[in-house]
Amino acid sequence: FVPHALAEGAAVALDRDQTHYLASVMRAAAGEAVLLFNGRDGEWLARIAGLAKAGAALVPERQTRPQAPVPDLWLLAAPLKKERTDLVAEKAAELGVSRLWPVFTRRTNAGRVNLERMRAHLVEASEQCERLCVPELADPAPLDKVLGQWPEGRVLLYLDESGGGVPLAQAIPPGPAALLVGPEGGFDDEERRLLASKPFARPVGLGPRILRAETAAIAALAVWQSVAGD
Ligand code: SAM
Repeated sequence: FVPHALAEGAAVALDRDQTHYLASVMRAAAGEAVLLFNGRDGEWLARIAGLAKAGAALVPERQTRPQAPVPDLWLLAAPLKKERTDLVAEKAAELGVSRLWPVFTRRTNAGRVNLERMRAHLVEASEQCERLCVPELADPAPLDKVLGQWPEGRVLLYLDESGGGVPLAQAIPPGPAALLVGPEGGFDDEERRLLASKPFARPVGLGPRILRAETAAIAALAVWQSVAGD
C-alpha cells in the first residue's frame, strides 16, 4: 500500500520502513516486480528500479486490476485489550469493512486506543488479503456522541447477546449499514435504552451463547459477507 498516485512510468519512492519490508521480509531485489495499490487507482504491477537501505524506487508499468467498489459497511467496536483489538482490526480489513470506528461505552475497560498500531494492522491485513483499499480508521468517540451525530440513511445493527434482537442474517439491509459490538462487559441498561430510542438502530443476535467481543465482531462480519455477498 502506498499513498502516491499510480500511473505508468511515474516513479514511487518508498520510505525506510516499507523498504525494509520489501528487502528483508519479502526478500525482493532490484528488477523484480511487485503489486501496488493506493485505494484510488486500482492495482499496479511495478518494477523495483532501485533498492538501498534508506529507500526504494518503484516504477508502475501497467494496471493489473481496476479499483473495486468497497462494500459500505462500518464496524463500530468498543476497544478491547491490545491483542484482541489487533485481531478485530485485522479481521475487519479481511472481511471487507470500509470504516472501523473505536467506540467507548460505559463498560469499556481499555483506557486508550493505539491508532497507529490499529492502522498498521489494517494496512497489513489489506495487503495480505489483496483488497484494493485500506479501511478508514475513525477517531475514537463515546457512544452517545456517535449516536448523536449519526448520518441519515445508515442503519445501525447493534449486537445484543440478551436475545432481544432478530438473527443478524435476517436483518441485513440493502443500503449503507454499520455493526456495533459491545465491550467485555456488554452494554449497560442506559445504553440499551439509548440505542432502543434511536430510529436508525436495531438489535440483532448471533445465537444463544455469549461470545467474546472479538468473536462477535468476526462472526457478525462473516454472516454479513455470506448474506450480502461482498
Ligand atoms: N465477557 C466476554 C468478553 O470478554 O468478551 C463476552 C462479552 S460480550 C457481553 C461482548 C459483546 O459481544 C456484546 O456487547 C455484544 O455486542 C456481542 N455479543 C456477544 N455474544 C453475542 C450474541 N450471542 N449475539 C449478539 N451479540 C453478541
